[in-house]
Amino acid sequence: MDMKSIPAQTGNYNLENYEEMYKTFDWEDAKKNFTWNETGKVNMAYEAIDKHAEDPDKKNQPALVYSAPGREETLTFSDLKRESDKFANVLKKHNIEKGDRVFMFLPRSPEFYAAFLGILKTGAIAGPLFEAFMEQAVRDRLEDSGAKMLITTPELLERVPEKELPDLKQVVLVGGEGSGDYISFEEEMKDASQDFDIEWVDLEDGMLLHYTSGSTGKPKGVYHVHNAMIQHYQTGKWVLDLKEGDIYWCTADPGWVTGTSYGIFAPWLNGVTNVVKGGRFSADDWYSLIAEKEISVWYSAPTAFRKLMSAGAEVAKKHDMTSLRHVLSVGEPLNPEVVTWGLKAFDLRIHDTWWMTETGAQLICNFPAMEIRPGSMGKPIPGIEASIVDNEGNELPPNQMGNLAIKEGWPAQMRAIWNNPGKFESYFVNGWYVSGDSAYQDEDGYFWFQGRLDDVINTSGERVGPFEVESKLIEHEAVAEAGVIGKPDPERGEIIKAFIMLNDGYEESDELLEDIRQFVKKGLSAHAAPREMEVKDSIPKTRSGKIMRRLLKSWELGLPTGDTSTLEE
Ligand code: ATP
Ligand code: MG
Repeated sequence: MDMKSIPAQTGNYNLENYEEMYKTFDWEDAKKNFTWNETGKVNMAYEAIDKHAEDPDKKNQPALVYSAPGREETLTFSDLKRESDKFANVLKKHNIEKGDRVFMFLPRSPEFYAAFLGILKTGAIAGPLFEAFMEQAVRDRLEDSGAKMLITTPELLERVPEKELPDLKQVVLVGGEGSGDYISFEEEMKDASQDFDIEWVDLEDGMLLHYTSGSTGKPKGVYHVHNAMIQHYQTGKWVLDLKEGDIYWCTADPGWVTGTSYGIFAPWLNGVTNVVKGGRFSADDWYSLIAEKEISVWYSAPTAFRKLMSAGAEVAKKHDMTSLRHVLSVGEPLNPEVVTWGLKAFDLRIHDTWWMTETGAQLICNFPAMEIRPGSMGKPIPGIEASIVDNEGNELPPNQMGNLAIKEGWPAQMRAIWNNPGKFESYFVNGWYVSGDSAYQDEDGYFWFQGRLDDVINTSGERVGPFEVESKLIEHEAVAEAGVIGKPDPERGEIIKAFIMLNDGYEESDELLEDIRQFVKKGLSAHAAPREMEVKDSIPKTRSGKIMRRLLKSWELGLPTGDTSTLEE
């Protein structure tokens, strides 16, 4: 099953010659695409929406295609300009000013997108929250950010402890009656003017506050500025390969950074039609959406691909997926097994991309016109210098595992951790942004993810990344999902313990577990084979689909579970 490399694709891609571009590209050139070039001022919402709404050839093109159980809606660029202008006027009327934090606790819906863009148009800072958050998670984020306004629904309002949030002055309810204490979205929008004077801001002015998913601990407010547009635009071109006429679908919720950087900014900056799906995951629904909307570029996550893989080939075969031309993945290591499945299921390569909330945009990627080495995240995008460094920030030679680091100063880089300058400083060592992920780089420049630094296992003096063990485990026909941790052991330092979820039709037995163990031993190495294995009905994940190894470990060791606000139910 191991596939060493999949050749570069040939065709018309926005980035044909990576090596050449890597040598010559300069971010200063990319800046010239924006109003900044003429006026010194910008606004993300202008570049993403209004600019296209002013273009007679584009204004009637669908910008947002929304599809959810019971609701289908299409908004053109000109519709979205109008709706966001109206909402910006609502915000102004209620005294929202540049720099204020306006949070959104809403399901994915057309209202969400209009409101989000409206916030940016006023120069305020948008804070999207994932709709499944419970009270504690909502309180932590609103409190830390000092949000002045919250946009939510009457149902979700029950999870907002308003009385404990002195900074929170106003609540806008979508789908609710306006009353003394609350502002009604619908009523205000009815009366709002369609003309709004957009707030022209500096590239370094605040735009977005994202609280990270919390795979490793308490969520932190990652602060981004309008300047990020340069990288969103450019990676939309090179990595997503977006072109006129594309129909693009990013499956991430805008509560996570992927759902904003690549679910809002990159597609719209590039003027393509953006599909948003509401409702829960179902393999059938997902495939139907691709077929019905004729999606051409699709950005999803390993957890979703693994679920589709488990659902079986029969489900896939029922649908016509020939519209797809480019598929990408982010959020977790992309198992080679999944890449191999992708080739069979869609006849397409799945392109892994690596980045994080703090980095604001993609950094290390597989490009369409580049050879893919399954299991590798690819190479840094032009304009980005990536390396493997030791704890002092010294670069390490090829094939040595260390800290994955990026040379400071790329366009979409976070500008602060809200209220926490110490935490912000702690990311930077010797001119490098140190990611907290461990990886190595091969002789040809490909980067290979090994695990989060907190997750790396030290067993009998060998360092083992949980990802390669998990990837091998799911190659076994009986294993659907796997989470691997190091468990303290007096003799070996740590031993490897694997939690696995079985595919339908498999029953737990000693023979089966031994067979799986042998499979890893033969396929990987003896020291990487789990000494302990436990079958579970599910593997705990964050709502963005990341395996929460931290939680598996606390359960195993009987320790406090820490912050679980982002745990998927
Ligand atoms: P917290 O920092 O609060 O613990 P988090 O790190 O899960 O949360 P994100 O910023 O959403 O929050 O996730 C970024 C992390 O996701 C990366 O540091 C990396 O560990 C993982 N990741 C993202 N993309 C990839 C990828 N292509 N391959 C491997 N890991 C990835
Ligand atoms: Mg992180």
